[in-house]
Amino acid sequence: MGVLDGKVSFVTGGSRGIGRAICLALAEAGSDIALNYSTSREAAEEVAALIHKMGRKALIYQANVSNPDEDDTMVAQIVKDFGLVHIVVNNAGITRDKSFVKMDRPMWHEVLNVNLTGPAMIIHRLIKPMMEHGWGRIINITSIVGQMGNFGQANYAAAKGGLIALTKTLAREFAKKGVTVNAVAPGFIETDMTAEVPPASLDIVKQMTPMGRLGKPEEVAATVAFLASPQASFITGEIIGVNGGMYM
Ligand code: NAP
Repeated sequence: MGVLDGKVSFVTGGSRGIGRAICLALAEAGSDIALNYSTSREAAEEVAALIHKMGRKALIYQANVSNPDEDDTMVAQIVKDFGLVHIVVNNAGITRDKSFVKMDRPMWHEVLNVNLTGPAMIIHRLIKPMMEHGWGRIINITSIVGQMGNFGQANYAAAKGGLIALTKTLAREFAKKGVTVNAVAPGFIETDMTAEVPPASLDIVKQMTPMGRLGKPEEVAATVAFLASPQASFITGEIIGVNGGMYM
């Protein structure tokens, strides 16, 4: 018996990195999983196969979360396949880094669309039935960069900072309906995203992190699973850092 038995979780960007670990952690806790991916079909299928082995239902859905038509089709199909979605994890995210002066408008809009507008519109599509049901969990994966800012990431920092503000606002709006809205703000975590960061910059990150290391996707996923659980019933509007002490 898991604490999330009978629940359905929808995780965006579940094919790789933190999203993959979140899907596995929620399934481990008993949830069935609707897993969104954008390009990595094989990786998504692999995660679904692992979840099936745990005895849970898992289906994969291809969609670019910043594309409204693709989101419409995906959400309609998920509702058809699973019925009510109880837990939404907005995890899909991208970076397009450049110093602000060199950042062009497409880089700005692409990052804002995937990391902020996409999550907001996905919540908008799923929230009504969740509120009618009287129980729900929304968990947004923001970033330490949305809390501290970071050189070369004006677009990403603005999107993740916006996601923090969205989280707090929706927490207030949905609280009386039994739906909690929280965010998890990872520091630097070992995934493909940080694999792009030059080793010298990662050394600086480690020096700035009291724990002296990067985090693991599973450490973020465990926090998400806790926020999704019945034990987290009186927590809403929180931004929980998982960052080895880098920001406190
Ligand atoms: P990652 O390894 O690059 O994986 C990104 C995931 O998002 C993939 O599953 C990818 O799917 C999916 N994705 C990207 N664009 C998408 C789109 N337009 N539509 C749907 N799915 C999309 O990244 P990660 O490090 O796991 O990051 C996950 C989340 O944590 C992001 O929101 C990121 O901003 C946040 N975060 C990460 C770190 C870190 O240090 N890694 C720190 C703070 C916050 P496909 O592979 O199928 O394309």
